Amino acid sequence: MANSESFRPGTTAIAIAPEAHNVVIQDVLITGSDIGIRSEGATGLIAKDVSFRGVSLPFDIKGEASISGTKISSDPKIRSSSRGRSMIGWTSIKGPALPSYCDECGNVFASQNYDLAGPYFNLWRNEDTCIVCGNEHAKLSQGHFDLARDTVRILRAPDITKEMLQRLSEIGAGALFGKLKPETAVALAQKVHPSFGDLLRRYISTGRKAGMLFLAAVGALVTLSDGAELVGITDPDVVNQKVLEEVLSKHESMWTKQLEKMNVQQNQDSRTSNDPADTPNKAGHEPGSSDQKIGDSSMPDAKIMKSSRKVKNRLHNSMGRSRTR
Ligand SMILES: [Zn+2]
Repeated sequence: MANSESFRPGTTAIAIAPEAHNVVIQDVLITGSDIGIRSEGATGLIAKDVSFRGVSLPFDIKGEASISGTKISSDPKIRSSSRGRSMIGWTSIKGPALPSYCDECGNVFASQNYDLAGPYFNLWRNEDTCIVCGNEHAKLSQGHFDLARDTVRILRAPDITKEMLQRLSEIGAGALFGKLKPETAVALAQKVHPSFGDLLRRYISTGRKAGMLFLAAVGALVTLSDGAELVGITDPDVVNQKVLEEVLSKHESMWTKQLEKMNVQQNQDSRTSNDPADTPNKAGHEPGSSDQKIGDSSMPDAKIMKSSRKVKNRLHNSMGRSRTR
């Protein structure tokens, strides 16, 4: 494949024919196109060490693919302004929402850059742009994705009731907010359903960032069990995929609210730190740690909601400062 500089917006840089197989794209820089690499069902696609600059959707892949070493810069969906950073042109992707993890601000978010709708994909060392702070070295997280996917599969087993999920949600929150010791929470979960104990243990061992993902997953499943069947979809795999997308988007909104809430709390406390960028790290205490200040609920109250816009912008400003070009 040729090196592809100067594609105009609205174009696809590399389109792979559906009947192609074992296509290798390696050490390529793709700039300025709307879509980077599009595959309509080719098999055995390998994209290795591909860089994207100013590309709206780097990967739009149906069919199996192995993607590694991706770097993304100047994501046109992230806009910096005096009011902070924001995501524009947010479109819902077709494949399962893949989580990315940002080392800078601790955010776990549904990636908008990897749209992979294949039955099989392999992902290693891929970077993403953080939608909260703009860090271009966030990591597409296969581990978080596997965990979320397994969670959906386990919690959608036919013998699991809404009441069990609600109880699990309370136990998970207890562990996350330090009211229950991890081992106590695991034992309680195990009693509710044999599969719950192991699941909760996996989250606890995955680390502090996984806690909110867990709450989002259980919360989304409780909500969906009210909503009965998803309209017109019967294939269990497809339903699971839809649920997974719901889980990841719910997680993202919970996380954003949590950031806002913590920022408000920090301003109310007069122990002002001069570096608000350290705020998000406070979200991620290990479940069971005793110095929690997060509060009982992950949902902000109405007053906080009202000021959230301003808070978010301030947060973006302060956090994005060092990375603003
Ligand atoms: Zn970030």
